Amino acid sequence: MMRLHCPCCENFTVDSDDEVIVDICDVCFWQYDVTAHEQPDRNIGANHISLTHAKENYRQFGVCKKEFIHMVRKPLQEELPENNKE
Ligand SMILES: [Zn+2]
Repeated sequence: MMRLHCPCCENFTVDSDDEVIVDICDVCFWQYDVTAHEQPDRNIGANHISLTHAKENYRQFGVCKKEFIHMVRKPLQEELPENNKE
């Protein structure tokens, strides 16, 4: 099964079988939001934080926003970018 990667943490947490991708990443708690993905430097859409800022947080804290730090888990082996090369 093909997976898509989360735009925030880069882990492959999204099953591409999902027709509508409205979901929250288990690894970084980023909510998939096409509007925010198209304008990554703007605080816009469901996450109330810009994608650029969320990525910075993920690098530092392992979560897109520190308030969600207890909601997330480590990526599974099959979700790691190095295990999902085309
Ligand atoms: Zn993520």
